[in-house]
Amino acid sequence: MNYDRDLIIALEHVSKIYEMGNVIVPALTDASLSIQSGEMVSIVGPSGSGKSTLMNVLGCLDVPTSGKYLLSNEDVSQMNDNRLAKIRNAQIGFIFQTYNLLPRLTALGNVELPLLYGDSRDSKIRCVQALERVGLGERVNHRPSELSGGEQQRVGIARAVVNRPAILLADEPTGNLDSSLSREILGLFEQFNQVGVTVLVATHDNELLGSAGRRVIELRNGEVIRDT
Ligand code: ADP
Repeated sequence: MNYDRDLIIALEHVSKIYEMGNVIVPALTDASLSIQSGEMVSIVGPSGSGKSTLMNVLGCLDVPTSGKYLLSNEDVSQMNDNRLAKIRNAQIGFIFQTYNLLPRLTALGNVELPLLYGDSRDSKIRCVQALERVGLGERVNHRPSELSGGEQQRVGIARAVVNRPAILLADEPTGNLDSSLSREILGLFEQFNQVGVTVLVATHDNELLGSAGRRVIELRNGEVIRDT
């Protein structure tokens, strides 16, 4: 196997099949792709084309049915949940379309969640810094219901970056936001990318397809049909 220091994500012939009773759904079919450290990539395709499935596999939230997934040159394709959780916590920040915040916790409490099992020294300071970085320094003690959609997504981003992951994966992060808020959220991703974070954004929002020159990977019926 070739060892490439800058290759952070390598999928080799990855398929994901869901079985629902007698029905077999091929959500991802024979997907191969490589992503270098520091890239910013858009993953596009219509609803049902497999974007979430791909993001979940890349984010170690799910394992492929077949094929190989090398994350930082380590094969994570068939790891058990415990090991996957550790790798995810150390390397990946995941951002969801519906934010997935816990309603009873404040913004600060939500951002603290990924740090609960780690070294707790400085954790509060780090969380406040993460919230400041996404422009929410004045909202640390607000609960999700006291925040706008755009602010809730910023909390989701602060939670994703608080462990300083090498990779940020965002699955339709602006699906519930209007276009000016979408641009702001995209601007945050660009800032993290500029300091070296690898960023993958799944979207069907044209605003987020990005500036000319950005790499776009397109899915259709679970297959990669275009990779610029
Ligand atoms: P997208 O994110 O592009 O909308 P998805 O990855 O969510 O696409 O879905 C791809 C296909 O897999 C769809 O046909 C969807 O219905 C199916 N699918 C996704 N998740 C599951 C699941 N947990 N169980 C069964 N089928 C699923």
